[in-house]
Amino acid sequence: MAQMEVGVLGATGTVGQQFVRLLEQHPWFKLTWLAGSERSEGKRYADAAPWRLSTPIPTESADKIVQPPVPGQGPKLVFSALDAAVAGELEAAFAAAGHIIVSNARNYRMEADVPLLVPEINAEHLGLVPLQAKRGWKGSIVTNPNCSTVFLAMALAPLRQFNLRQVTVTTLQAVSGAGYPGVPSLDIIGNVVPFIGGEEEKIESETKRILGALHDKSGTSSVVPHGVTISAQTTRVPVIDGHTESISVSIDQGVTLEDVRNALMTFRGKPQEHRLPSAPCHPIVYATEPNRPQPRLDVERGNGMTVTIGRLRPCSVLGYKFIALGHNTVRGAAGAALLNAELMQAEGLL
Ligand code: NAP
Repeated sequence: MAQMEVGVLGATGTVGQQFVRLLEQHPWFKLTWLAGSERSEGKRYADAAPWRLSTPIPTESADKIVQPPVPGQGPKLVFSALDAAVAGELEAAFAAAGHIIVSNARNYRMEADVPLLVPEINAEHLGLVPLQAKRGWKGSIVTNPNCSTVFLAMALAPLRQFNLRQVTVTTLQAVSGAGYPGVPSLDIIGNVVPFIGGEEEKIESETKRILGALHDKSGTSSVVPHGVTISAQTTRVPVIDGHTESISVSIDQGVTLEDVRNALMTFRGKPQEHRLPSAPCHPIVYATEPNRPQPRLDVERGNGMTVTIGRLRPCSVLGYKFIALGHNTVRGAAGAALLNAELMQAEGLL
């Protein structure tokens, strides 16, 4: 199969850098176009991007000149790692001009005609894409969730079969989730910040949408959100990469701990069926050690695409409780978008 040319909007940021890294050796996609703001436009990528990943900057991208974000320029398939303050207008302009935008930004996630995808869970929500033609767009927008939402949704999806009713989640979120330069060092070293603006609302609403069903009523598709009640609390902690989540769930009585663990461990979806290049063999790994998962030890599992779950035990309030961990800029951002695009390619939608 010939490689398809792709571009990245917001290529210089924290998530943009992960795109550049993940696309370096991609078997299906070839990164040919990098765009940034006026601050970066016209500079060599290596000079414009404050490279913060522990792997070297890919040589093929280092010398590329950062382009202005002009719709109609750049390849048809464009990943977006744009700041939400500008993503709304820019992504729409690119979609109108015929680009397929696979976005990390929050702006279109809850729009009725835009898929909010976690491919293992709701690949069928791609059925919303044709509705976007009514906006007059020649292209389309597909989104991935907020980083904390992905890990919660992955942990809950296998439990839907047990009549999932109530969920509480408390997050311990890494500083890379705030972009670069992000949280000031004096605020986060040796500290916990118990507030991340807008995050709790996003986790609660996005998760229900992802777990929801696609309905087709007289030729019009729509997503009916899952009925689970979710209560989220979010904190920022001095960890570089990896969001940890403490989760309690209420499910049917009589479901054993073994049933829950098996459901988590055997969870698979379309990415595994299609053997997509970025798909981990095991979307969820259950860690049996009593002190896992830990960001430092588990965040890179499955090249950052696996969610690690551990410490499953009875909860005297809701039923069962456990800890989940995922890589926020990979499975929670750039890797998630890449998997979305791979799914679209495998399903003949690109
Ligand atoms: P970031 O490090 O602040 O990067 C923002 C990017 O947007 C930069 O490349 C910047 O380009 C570009 N940009 C800003 N204004 C622009 C303009 N007017 N025109 C064109 N480009 C512009 O942010 P981030 O953490 O990578 O996050 C990017 C997006 O992903 C956000 O929407 C965020 O909410 C979402 N997200 C982030 C994470 C995470 O873990 N970090 C997870 C999930 C989703 P210049 O550098 O050239 O100014």
